[in-house]
Amino acid sequence: MALSTQQARELQGLISQRRNTLITELRDDVRKTRAERFGEVAGEVPDTGDESVAALIADLDQAEWGRDIDELRSLEEASERIAGGDYGVCVDCGRDIGFERLRATPAAIRCIDCQTRHEKTFASPGSPSL
Ligand SMILES: [Zn+2]
Repeated sequence: MALSTQQARELQGLISQRRNTLITELRDDVRKTRAERFGEVAGEVPDTGDESVAALIADLDQAEWGRDIDELRSLEEASERIAGGDYGVCVDCGRDIGFERLRATPAAIRCIDCQTRHEKTFASPGSPSL
């Protein structure tokens, strides 16, 4: 990976931040939806706090949250790629994605050229971008 340790750390920070925001939002949504669906009072559902992200994703694996789930999933994967050292490399062409693009879109798995091409090829909304 062509990123310096400091850059990788900065991007990891951005990913964690965004991930936590998303998880909080999604947990809220789940709670509200459960309340609506099962007549529970929102807030009575215990917040265990240790509910794994995988469980949360499974819970939310429905169209209404598809976009957020996709983002959360890609953030998880980005986080794993940073840990694994293969972060920041375009999955299509193998070139470096570039620090500036990663800073704007930390979960990016493609360079701008490939992303543009990908979006033209797979234009249907909601389809997984992986
Ligand atoms: Zn590329």
